[in-house]
Amino acid sequence: MKFFIDELPGDIRCGKFKGFPEGFVHGFSGRTGGVSEGAWSSLDMGLHVGDDPQAVVENRRRFLGALGLDVNRLCTPQQVHGDHVARVSVKEAGRGAFDYADSIPQTDALITDERDLPLLLCFADCTPILFADPVHHAVGAAHGGWKGTFARIVMKTAKAMHESFGTNPNDLYAVIGPAIGPCCYEVDDKLAARFAAKFPEWQDKIIEDRGKTGHKQLDLWETNYLQLLAAGLKPEHIGRADYCTSCHHDIYFSYRADGGKTGRLAAVIAAK
Ligand SMILES: [Zn+2]
Repeated sequence: MKFFIDELPGDIRCGKFKGFPEGFVHGFSGRTGGVSEGAWSSLDMGLHVGDDPQAVVENRRRFLGALGLDVNRLCTPQQVHGDHVARVSVKEAGRGAFDYADSIPQTDALITDERDLPLLLCFADCTPILFADPVHHAVGAAHGGWKGTFARIVMKTAKAMHESFGTNPNDLYAVIGPAIGPCCYEVDDKLAARFAAKFPEWQDKIIEDRGKTGHKQLDLWETNYLQLLAAGLKPEHIGRADYCTSCHHDIYFSYRADGGKTGRLAAVIAAK
């Protein structure tokens, strides 16, 4: 599956994957086409980052509307860099759509087999991963920052879909969206050593030493990709954007490139 950025009416940009299975809507929102101002200009999707909530709700309405989805039904979690996966259903439609306090608490991945129930997670450099099971019409969305990636959140999401919906990893599709890349994601030696100890068989693929004292480059795209393979997904069912939000912070919000104060992109998925 090949990543591309779709230009939608209203100056909205939406990252997508060609070849994503039919029957699903997915997308990664860009920076333009919204109503937020200042550091959040303009399509900020996060209700928890100091932006005007009314502007965020309007931004969500615009982006979901451009995808043909209903903002009133979206479901979003309070992401806490944990590894809890929550199954949601029609009862949770609208949770967190307009009020952050009403989001699904203490959760970093959502799954559902409900149709027209858009799952929305927020990101600025952390790795978004979206799942689709065409056999059971089920979807998932996971937040893979370094903590979620370290905790193998994509493997836990695939397992939760198996337990909840009977999803066979052989049938499951997953895409790794725009996120900070190994080009820009510098971490201290201590964190690199924790990853090397946790994933010893992968350390040569996920950690790069550029000779900078006290620091290494960490590749969370690759770490999540290897975890998806380990979960049993077929390589041809996994999409990688390999699109760095820090390098491309003109297109996507980037926590690091924007100096910490910035908006959030949304990763959205729904079964139709
Ligand atoms: Zn980069």
